[in-house]
Amino acid sequence: MKVLKIDHIGIAVERMDEALAVFEGLLGLKLHGTETVEEQKVRTAFLPSGDSEIELLESTDPDGPIGKYIAAKGQGVQHVAFRVENLEEALAELKAKGVRLIDEKPRSGAGGARIAFLHPKATNGVLVELCERKA
Ligand code: ZN
Repeated sequence: MKVLKIDHIGIAVERMDEALAVFEGLLGLKLHGTETVEEQKVRTAFLPSGDSEIELLESTDPDGPIGKYIAAKGQGVQHVAFRVENLEEALAELKAKGVRLIDEKPRSGAGGARIAFLHPKATNGVLVELCERKA
């Protein structure tokens, strides 16, 4: 399995407009686009920074994963996403090593990426997303 880089850092936010005021207004990042992922009940906004991105995550439903996350832990860094060359291969390799996975198979994420989450119990309490993008 080959990790190419940190693809993005996912940050759970209560209000997208307030978060954009911080990341655009204070830090000077540029909004690259927003997208709602219905399946995940989340609205996302991507702000590139160098070769990586910040992904802001606002829940569209209190019962969605981000809504539950914020209810339990509040706003903040929610996951770190590493870009891999081949997601199927990476998942097969981790599974063979007995690593606990949230997603055994790739699913679709924002921006046309294929993604899968590892269980934070397997990765020092950090929710790790692996993602593969066609260049
Ligand atoms: Zn992500």
